[in-house]
Amino acid sequence: MNQDCLFCKIIAGEIPSAKVYEDDFVYAFKDIEPIAPVHYLFVPKTHICCAKKINAENSSYIAKIFEAIAKVSESENLESYRVINNCGEDAGQSVMHLHFHVVAGKKMGWGKQSLG
Ligand code: 5GP
Ligand code: ZN
Repeated sequence: MNQDCLFCKIIAGEIPSAKVYEDDFVYAFKDIEPIAPVHYLFVPKTHICCAKKINAENSSYIAKIFEAIAKVSESENLESYRVINNCGEDAGQSVMHLHFHVVAGKKMGWGKQSLG
């Protein structure tokens, strides 16, 4: 656990969150400022700052996260959804604990405009 990390504190239960899924490797909770009717954050239960730091030692967490996303999408009947990872400041990463946004429940645009 990183003492200065918001998502580490959420995983530890020190900061409350609306949990949607948990196993030994993954924690998922509702985003506090949703951008779609469904907006969840899936995080590894180990502190990895960002996608740049995924390596052979920790990449099994990524597989577990995508397994968890598939389980939640099945149990919540999410027909379509988008998985987003922002890595770095220009990409919009504001919390430096690796996380995957899962957004659903609306028709989503794609293309140049969707990158803002
Ligand atoms: P990023 O911008 O780093 O890709 O995504 C961080 C996300 O974390 C944002 O969508 C933001 O709304 C969400 N967030 C920030 N602080 C909190 C919090 O305290 N609780 C929850 N549930 N979400 C948060
Ligand atoms: Zn952390």
